[in-house]
Amino acid sequence: MDFEEIKKPDQNQFTVKSNIKNYDDSYEKSSWDEIYSELDWLPGGGLNKAYECIDRHVKNGLGEKIAILWEGKNGEEEIYTFKQLKDLTDKFANVLNSLGVKLGDRIFVFMDRLPECYIAVFGGLKIGAVVGPLFSAFGPDPVKDRMEDAGAKLLVTQPELRRKISNMLGDLNDLQNIIVVNKDNRDNNPLIEQDLSYEELMEKSSSDFSIANTSQYDYSIMHYTSGTTGKPKGAVHRHQAIVQQYATGKWALDFHHDDIYWCTADPGWVTGTSYGMFAPWSNGITQVIYEGGFSASKWYSIIEKYKVSVWYTAPTAIRMLMKSGEKPVKQHDLSTLRFIGSVGEPLNPEAVIWGNKNFEQPIHDNWWQTETGAIMCANYASMNVRPGSMGKPIPGIELAILDKDFNPLPPNKSGLLAVKPGWPSQFHAYWNNSERYNSRFKKSWYITGDEALMDEDGYFWFQGRSDDVINTAGHLVSPFEVESALIEHPAVAEAGVIGIPDKIAMEVVKAFVALNVGYEWDEKLKREIMRFAREKLSAGVAPRDIGYVDSLPKTRSGKIMRRLLKARELGLPEGDTSTLEDD
Ligand code: AMP
Repeated sequence: MDFEEIKKPDQNQFTVKSNIKNYDDSYEKSSWDEIYSELDWLPGGGLNKAYECIDRHVKNGLGEKIAILWEGKNGEEEIYTFKQLKDLTDKFANVLNSLGVKLGDRIFVFMDRLPECYIAVFGGLKIGAVVGPLFSAFGPDPVKDRMEDAGAKLLVTQPELRRKISNMLGDLNDLQNIIVVNKDNRDNNPLIEQDLSYEELMEKSSSDFSIANTSQYDYSIMHYTSGTTGKPKGAVHRHQAIVQQYATGKWALDFHHDDIYWCTADPGWVTGTSYGMFAPWSNGITQVIYEGGFSASKWYSIIEKYKVSVWYTAPTAIRMLMKSGEKPVKQHDLSTLRFIGSVGEPLNPEAVIWGNKNFEQPIHDNWWQTETGAIMCANYASMNVRPGSMGKPIPGIELAILDKDFNPLPPNKSGLLAVKPGWPSQFHAYWNNSERYNSRFKKSWYITGDEALMDEDGYFWFQGRSDDVINTAGHLVSPFEVESALIEHPAVAEAGVIGIPDKIAMEVVKAFVALNVGYEWDEKLKREIMRFAREKLSAGVAPRDIGYVDSLPKTRSGKIMRRLLKARELGLPEGDTSTLEDD
């Protein structure tokens, strides 16, 4: 291991030389047109993500190659080849067809990481639907907000998740069908009222299907993402995004044909689709899908058992592995592992160094977000990793640091991280919200909402968010969404929500509430409000703690000053309070 001293702001940085040198430099010279030519277009000239990820491999003689190595939470094992995946997704596309789903209709998939979740998503893409995967830990409110906003026509789910959201389904005016997957007959009472059985529909369906001739500009996937104000916004991506997902699989995750790949992200978040579906399968890579949750020894045993060679995970997970110590690492043979990537939050330098020691290789941080659809900035396999840096822009991507007037800043100045629009996986709308979409573009730049700086060698360094959005365990949480849920509790008059630092999850959600007349603040009420929020939202989004205030600090125009709440909570300087409303 070579450590190389470099000058860097605020941390004692050094570079870690990568031990992998198989990054193909010719890609540096590739234009997007060359990448397009590596894909198979549909016979009619269109582009469809499902065709690129599944059908073309079957056409090109890879039908017997393994696409999915699945392990269930109870230890069940299933294997699917690309040919089996083609047949099942064709069948499911026929099911959707028989239910009247048409090009451009929105369908949602609210499932755990079951093979049927992937079949439903790709079946939907084959028919030209816009698919919205939902995080299975969500409670009824986030599911309702998303499906209602998108005008969802159909939902694919599983019995216990269906029951969790039953009370709100009647409010969704556009919803026509609910398909319930009862995996391995796990549930004794899977169907409610007019629900349709996935197993019965699939049994009757033919695998003879002609994929919809979608154009590269047709919408494919939508992921809802959080902002400071308003409900989450549905970032919509086109089929064209596959071009960059395919390319970055090679460039940033170093995919090679024989890799066994494991992405630990859930398909309810963009990493779980772009890199848990599209990037690996457009490259014809075998991937492991593990239904269960986190446990250090289980995760290491997954790597060992399936001989994972490329692993894409998140800083919170790495910090949890660090916490569990070196012993479980040593108890497993992880020698197949040759590339580790990380995304979603800042990857602290200690984690890179810990990975280097324990996995005998650096962890390659990269940066992107829901709206960008694919990796934009990365520590490549071939380059020296600078622990704490998100690396350099991928070929064909222009990133810049802008001042508050949206003009580029020189190196080593912190400012707004921006992207030159026109990258292939760029989102193309916030569903039903063109005003919000347009507000993200300033002076010919897309403004990411992050603050960063670029050093003199072109490496980018994350500095923080430029808004109040909370990043907890790599998931963005809108304070507004949590506040809206809290004020539905009869005791709560108003609520303000902030992120407070956490050793593992980077930030956790903390709320402050003022009470309605007739309510007294005590431990019992606090617990009751926390439970209420968890049921409505999900454990990951609901506040970890709630504090009581007489009233929330607000601007004269009535906006909650979360910045001030946070400063008071953390004992930081309060800054400019000139707009603060008088008490
Ligand atoms: P999401 O849209 O939910 O995928 O979240 C994207 C946000 O996560 C970015 O705008 C950043 O704030 C944060 N993020 C993603 N990757 C990184 C990274 N490598 N370093 C620091 N923050 C990151």
